[in-house]
Amino acid sequence: MVAEILCVGTELLLGQVLNTDAQFLSRQLSEMGIELYRIETVGDNPGRVRQSVRAALERCDLLITTGGLGPTEDDLTKEMVAEELGLDMVEDAASMARLNEMYAAWGRKMPENNVKQAWFPRGAHILKNARGTAPGCAVEVDGKIVIVLPGPPYELTHMFAEEAVPYLRNKLGYKIESRFIRTIEIGESDLEMQLRDMIDRQTNVTIATYCSLGEAQVRLTVKCPVGDDPAKYLDPVEAEIRERLGKYIYAIGETDMPHVVVGLLRRAGRSAAVAESCTGGKIADWLVDVPGVSEVLVEGHVTYSNISKERTLGVRHDTLEKYTAVSEQVAREMAEGLHELSGADYCLSVTGIAGPGGGTPETPVGLVYIGLKTPRGTQVEKFNFTGDRYRVRSLAALRALNMLRKALTDIDEVTISD
Ligand code: ATP
Ligand code: MG
Repeated sequence: MVAEILCVGTELLLGQVLNTDAQFLSRQLSEMGIELYRIETVGDNPGRVRQSVRAALERCDLLITTGGLGPTEDDLTKEMVAEELGLDMVEDAASMARLNEMYAAWGRKMPENNVKQAWFPRGAHILKNARGTAPGCAVEVDGKIVIVLPGPPYELTHMFAEEAVPYLRNKLGYKIESRFIRTIEIGESDLEMQLRDMIDRQTNVTIATYCSLGEAQVRLTVKCPVGDDPAKYLDPVEAEIRERLGKYIYAIGETDMPHVVVGLLRRAGRSAAVAESCTGGKIADWLVDVPGVSEVLVEGHVTYSNISKERTLGVRHDTLEKYTAVSEQVAREMAEGLHELSGADYCLSVTGIAGPGGGTPETPVGLVYIGLKTPRGTQVEKFNFTGDRYRVRSLAALRALNMLRKALTDIDEVTISD
């Protein structure tokens, strides 16, 4: 199936709005295995919209339009599609009822011009809009499909996923599903080496590796009939990869390290606290992004200066003098002091040189010590990260959480999946 996208909106041509709908849709289409040949943007002009619809339908099987579904005069996409397909516009009773209900619930009278949001090309399949007033629609004539979506991204993304994808899957007769296997402490090239023979003999399930900051991912993708369970194909491949890479895998699915760590803490019924120097609150921030963290996070401190490490965490003055702030000893005392202070079961500490300045031959930029006090004792790991300040700080935060994850995974062998 060959597709085109037609974005309608003068604001897009004036550079007032970035065309994120086009980016979203192109990515979704590619994930569904639908070939996209062209993206066009046109202003709110009836003649030009109609001309673009006509030209596109001569070239492709599936046209997706965005924008111009609203109640105002210049919202005309649906009408132009109907004219071009030779269909008249008819009222959809269910959409009209819903519009009336929405206005009743708001305690407002529906403006006259709003009625047109319930009118569609005859025979159209209505795509419900759970996030706004204007429904979209899908029309099929002579084997050509036109899907008409609203402009606001908040509405479009939801409508596409919930309404258009199932419609398209039915038309396609197949679906494509992906599963992500997230690994840490192994580089992308090593990862690929370990999976080389599997990648070479891949058939229905395709295997691809990616890397993002501090981690590498394996993506499994399967194409299967609509009625089939993709897990049937993905599970055995995942199992084989687990066998090979088990110790590097920290998550399956669209989750991330902070979610995994908070999940493990909650499952274990344990608490945590963090004391951060070079990460400056990044770890606490990431953790607090996860809903439900309040059950497990006791506190976070940014102890940036030496005096703060002494005053807040009880790091000894002598230790700082003798070994400097970026040292195994200080990381250890930070973690242990944090335990005294917070009483948390797992206490993480980070101290390092984020750069670009401040490095010396003994303590170069990127040198980071991460301490972890657990009910079983205290460990400190030394890291030499490379890259700019942002990268060093992010890698330090990621690896700190990874240490915590490993300590928690030792309790009982679990990997969180979403
Ligand atoms: P409404 O009912 O809000 O009028 P609509 O379906 O008629 O929705 P438009 O009027 O074309 O859509 O656009 C409404 C708003 O949606 C625009 O002002 C813009 O903020 C956003 N928008 C429209 N098209 C796009 C696009 N392609 N990418 C990103 N945002 C868009
Ligand atoms: Mg509009």
